[in-house]
Amino acid sequence: MTAEIRVFPCLSDNFGYLIHDPATKATASIDAPEAGPILAALEREGWTLTDILVTHHHADHVGGIDELKRKYKCRVLAPHDNGTPIPLVDQRVKEGDVVKVGNLSARVLATPGHTLDHISYMFDSEHALFCADTLFSIGCGRVIEGTYPMMWDSLLKLRALPNETRVYCGHEYTAANVKFALTIEPDNPALKKRADEVTKLRAANKPTIPSLLGEEKEANVFLRADVPSVATAVGLAGKPAAAVFGEIRERKNKS
Ligand code: ZN
Ligand code: FE
Repeated sequence: MTAEIRVFPCLSDNFGYLIHDPATKATASIDAPEAGPILAALEREGWTLTDILVTHHHADHVGGIDELKRKYKCRVLAPHDNGTPIPLVDQRVKEGDVVKVGNLSARVLATPGHTLDHISYMFDSEHALFCADTLFSIGCGRVIEGTYPMMWDSLLKLRALPNETRVYCGHEYTAANVKFALTIEPDNPALKKRADEVTKLRAANKPTIPSLLGEEKEANVFLRADVPSVATAVGLAGKPAAAVFGEIRERKNKS
């Protein structure tokens, strides 16, 4: 039996995610932006929360842990870097670890850059990647604690995953990301296709997530810093991809 995944809004623009194993009834929340919508989703489905898989220490990803843990006594898994203030952690995980949610399993990928502790969870048999604030649809997270080369390496690690991977990211930023990406690649057909799709989804008040990694590889300018035409578009022809990536990220910060 394959996993069931639910997507719902939390806070102003975060995504809440539940992944449920029908065989064992185990259910994990990916991060816990706020308890209310997560509790409501669990009740709607009749599911019991067994695990919280934390990606990084920011408040908009851990704010609901306390209340959820009190109600469900669930296990809290968090990044290995324990210098960061994540409440009520039961188990620390790092690159190469395999996390079980019932019979489902996820590989832990270190994806630092946005924060130093940031990890992503890849459920290989479900083709589902939970990458929070590392990779967004048509965007990527702000590089707050790490460096541009570090973040670029993290994006390359995610880009190496199979095309059929569904990308479940931390925020609904896709429309703004598309608008920015078009300033660098106005003629990219994959980006124009995604732009149309996103306009329709947002008009219907639907989430733009999950997206397909294969499509992100073609349309997401932040995954394309090593494409010569992108380097040329930002005036850095022939420069290292990490530098091109840094320039794109800085332009986005100012946009
Ligand atoms: Zn964050
Ligand atoms: Fe966030």
